[in-house]
Amino acid sequence: MSPSDSPEQVRWQLSDLVGGGGREQVEELLDDALGRAAAFAQRYRGALATIDGDGLVEAMSELAEIHDVAGRAESFAGLDFATDTTDPERGALVALVQERSTTLATTLLFFELEWAALSDERVDELLGHAGLDFCRHHLRTARRYRPHLMSEPEELILAEKSLSGAGAWTRLFGELTSSIEVELEQTATLDVALARLASPSRDVRQQSAQAVTRALQPGLRTRAFIFNTLLVDKATDDRLRRYPHWLAARNLANEASDESVAALVSAVTGRYEIARRWYRLKASLLGIDRLADYDRSAPIAADEEHVDWPTARELVLDAYASFSPALGDLASRFFDENWIDAPSSHGKQGGAFCAYTVPSVHPYVLLNFAGRRHDVLVLAHELGHGVHAALASAQGIFHQGTPLTLAETASVFGEALTFGRLLESSPTPAARLALLAEDIEGAIATVFRQVTMNRFERLVHTERREVGELSVERFGELWAQTQEEFFGDSVTVTDDYRCWWSYIPHFINTPGYVYAYAYGQLLAMSVYDRYLTQGPGFEQNYLELLSSGGSRSPEELGAIVGVDLRDPGFWERGLDLVERRLEAAEEAAAAL
Ligand SMILES: [Zn+2]
Repeated sequence: MSPSDSPEQVRWQLSDLVGGGGREQVEELLDDALGRAAAFAQRYRGALATIDGDGLVEAMSELAEIHDVAGRAESFAGLDFATDTTDPERGALVALVQERSTTLATTLLFFELEWAALSDERVDELLGHAGLDFCRHHLRTARRYRPHLMSEPEELILAEKSLSGAGAWTRLFGELTSSIEVELEQTATLDVALARLASPSRDVRQQSAQAVTRALQPGLRTRAFIFNTLLVDKATDDRLRRYPHWLAARNLANEASDESVAALVSAVTGRYEIARRWYRLKASLLGIDRLADYDRSAPIAADEEHVDWPTARELVLDAYASFSPALGDLASRFFDENWIDAPSSHGKQGGAFCAYTVPSVHPYVLLNFAGRRHDVLVLAHELGHGVHAALASAQGIFHQGTPLTLAETASVFGEALTFGRLLESSPTPAARLALLAEDIEGAIATVFRQVTMNRFERLVHTERREVGELSVERFGELWAQTQEEFFGDSVTVTDDYRCWWSYIPHFINTPGYVYAYAYGQLLAMSVYDRYLTQGPGFEQNYLELLSSGGSRSPEELGAIVGVDLRDPGFWERGLDLVERRLEAAEEAAAAL
């Protein structure tokens, strides 16, 4: 066995971030960045009003370098900490980095403000300069809220009053929900009780759901009052800032057009039947007539198969290389050059992620590889983020990252490539069904559920604006209505379930946010489906899409691979993919 055959030996090498050194270099880099930021402020404060194109290129280049230097220090400290969060030395370094980064941000803040203050004509003239490709889109989108800003004194009052307004209500909601106690055999938190909905025992699921409903009763009126207050607060905000509808501000934040969001929602609501078919199949697998709302997370098959690290690596690299040799080569660098930290170890952060770090270095991937088939898909997923980051690094620091809605494109794509391999190599119908079930339920959770929640949000925001305050019962009615529209006859919505809107933090903290999960996931799946239908010609366009990072708007980026995000037909393609997996699951179930 060679050392890299065991995941225990696969540790990342963070010295690449700090010029070959270690923790002692972090403070040096921060000092360097802060010194340069102070000099930058000295030179450019008050200068944007009269700067010319060449001057702006010079300023932005210097800004990029300052962010790169600081980003290396921040990445090192953060990643070093992630592999052992119990080490006080690493914790102290993160704290130091946070303090210095705040100072850095404050020192450079003037630049953003002065940029936002320029007139549109002057900005158009400046951005016409050919040397600004590395930051043009960034500079333009930085001004996108401008038409919705008010005068400085007005903004100041709103910002100060929001602490005791929306900010206070949101915090109260968080405090109330996190102190909810569910009476099981012992008193449990809401999260623990909700996790029991995945129990194989129907009695446990039903009793847990009833216990959750009972636990949601105390304070229900108070939480409804908070929701009402925040609905009206947002309506006021939207009116003052001249946003045309309840979702407009969120779409602007996501750089998603109203048309593309409407196309997504119409495609998904038109295909609710996919989820219903799955729920019907699941009911028959569980041996019950019809699922109730508390049965949806019930497990149908255990997947016990073990995959060792070398097999996982070969599987994923092979999947990538068979799509694109260039992408396969890039993915293998993560293994060959120690960009991955694979094992579960004491104090290590849970889950998995890819850190883009900065364009002058390379991305890193953290895993907790335990040899389940699920872990193979996680490896494929994070490597997708990794190759996206590596390809987009040529765009520089302002354009390496994509908007939220495109951030999952390469990860879901890489996961889909690998999923196909795993499915082909699954020996039995039971193993195939386990894989397919996980995949379909993942799609239901990220695509369908989020869109049903978006439908609920639309109704409550609209009703608060057009009719007035909503009662607890009315919230429950609209919640049940949107859930029933989704489930059709496939799942019984119990009366207990009617108050389950009342603990969901997204509705309170970030109104309108939920559709972004569906948008990102389905966009990626639809792009993957386009590859399946287009074949070999797709590779070059796809690589160009990844290499473009966030240098253009999502819709312009979509056009690179020949898709129109405003067209419901594009979104249908991803749903076709889910439907085909559902058919495969139906086949596997029939062969059990
Ligand atoms: Zn991801």
